[in-house]
Amino acid sequence: MMPLLEIAKLKTVLNTGSAPIHAVDGLELKIFKGETFALLGESGCGKSMTALSIMRLLPEIAEIIEGHIKLDGNDLLLLPETDMRKVRGKRISMIFQEPMLSLNPVMTIASQIKEVLKQHFILHHTHLHKRILELLQQVGIPDAPRRMTEFPFQFSGGMKQRVMIAMALAGEPELLIADEPTTALDVTIQAQVLDLMRDLQQRTHMAILLITHDLGVVAEIAHRIAVMYAGEIIETATCKDFFQQPAHPYSQKLFAALPERAKRNQGLAVISGNVPLLSQAFQGCRFAERCDHAWELCRQTVPEWIEITPGHRVKCHLFSKEKRSEYQVNRTEK
Ligand code: SF4
Ligand code: MG
Repeated sequence: MMPLLEIAKLKTVLNTGSAPIHAVDGLELKIFKGETFALLGESGCGKSMTALSIMRLLPEIAEIIEGHIKLDGNDLLLLPETDMRKVRGKRISMIFQEPMLSLNPVMTIASQIKEVLKQHFILHHTHLHKRILELLQQVGIPDAPRRMTEFPFQFSGGMKQRVMIAMALAGEPELLIADEPTTALDVTIQAQVLDLMRDLQQRTHMAILLITHDLGVVAEIAHRIAVMYAGEIIETATCKDFFQQPAHPYSQKLFAALPERAKRNQGLAVISGNVPLLSQAFQGCRFAERCDHAWELCRQTVPEWIEITPGHRVKCHLFSKEKRSEYQVNRTEK
């Protein structure tokens, strides 16, 4: 099956000061139609830079220096900006952590959604009105006919995030990128927004790329997961396999440090040691300085992808043929 989105060897650098920072460093991922794919990682690991690279909305200091980002087989990185504008909002939409920053405070909710609709469709006035109402109802805004005439400040945080989702859905995208969509919300509202996203996904069959630092959010709605560390993906699996047996030593540490598995709003555990500087070239495994299992090979050779079970892949020397049996035994004994 052809993936909806396929990222290969993506490198995005930040040109700050003396040495460029390799924020995204050789990233590979595939997202299929209709799935919710979580990209999990600590802040600063390159998750948001990945999302902004896909949208081609990078800040001025950032630049994609290598790789492909293919949507249905067509490389977005080769599109002229005018064509990319037709992709944004229409084929791929994005919602952000802080809805207040993305809504225009002096425009009513209806006018803001209308702007988006007008970018993508030619609709008669009455159809526009009907479509705005539909979208607001779809995201669970009560009393939508009245509320559509109100301004963002009249909405609570959770309701604003719903409006943002309605705007993101306006172009009927095939892929919705949600960057920490619930982080700014309190726990009950988080749960409601996640329920809404799951529900919309089931109804519309759009794919969702969910960017998060929260294992609980992943457990709640994702089908597959990729764990990102220091600019690259180090493990990918179905959520079922991942939550049953996280393989990479980094993933295991994330679990071990959680007081209760999949507890929402917990954020990621603090793991001793520092994320390596991303301005350097790596000789070996990026996690070696913080890994309890590291040996010489880890410091000398970059680990390649190894498939442990179908669909569960990991970048770690412990899973090489020579090491694997020994490590597997220790792992299951724990
Ligand atoms: Fe640890 Fe080595 Fe695996 Fe890296 S490759 S995670 S250092 S065991
Ligand atoms: Mg981020």
